[in-house]
Amino acid sequence: DGEPVAGETSRPRLTVVSGPSGVGKSSVVGQLRRLDPDIYFSVSVTTRAPRPGEVDGNHYHFVDAAEFDRMVAEGRLLEWAEFAGNRYGTPREPVDRALAEGRPAVLEIELQGARQVRAAMPEARLVMLMPPSWEELVGRLTGRGTENEAAVRTRLAEAERELAAAGEFDVRLVNADVGTAARRLLDLMSGGEVSAAGP
Ligand code: 5GP
Repeated sequence: DGEPVAGETSRPRLTVVSGPSGVGKSSVVGQLRRLDPDIYFSVSVTTRAPRPGEVDGNHYHFVDAAEFDRMVAEGRLLEWAEFAGNRYGTPREPVDRALAEGRPAVLEIELQGARQVRAAMPEARLVMLMPPSWEELVGRLTGRGTENEAAVRTRLAEAERELAAAGEFDVRLVNADVGTAARRLLDLMSGGEVSAAGP
């Protein structure tokens, strides 16, 4: 249910990209950004500490717990979730503004947030980025070097949970190659049929 069918003319304007840590969401979304500068990419707020190289306002808005609480209380987040000990949320206003301007919008968020978007905006299209295999995902997550061993274990447990929910998504897109995955995403956003993305 809710699956766009071939020949349907309406174009979903909001696309949610989810998928386990290490699957390459940021790389695919970054590539998509280069392919189409008209797309609005949401910048989330998070209570997580910045990683080396992450820029405030660019990768995330880094906020403390009090500021995050305030945003939740004031209804300024479209969705939010706790993930691996930190909180993450999508500021509502910039997404509303982009959609009102007719710009397609992309959220890169985890599973609980994707479910909240589905409930709030049934017209959104939910895409789960999948690893070519579980072994590949473990390799990518371990080799990234941005998290310690405990954090990697937490994220692998979350990854298992996320992949188990793949059936809830409109599209499951295997990320074997970043450029290919980004082009398929763009196709989907341009009104391409779901089947264009493969199984
Ligand atoms: P990371 O700490 O690796 O940057 O992000 C951890 C997880 O949180 C990733 O799956 C990422 O997609 C997700 N995430 C980032 N921003 C948001 C957000 O605004 N809302 C939700 N629900 N998840 C987010």
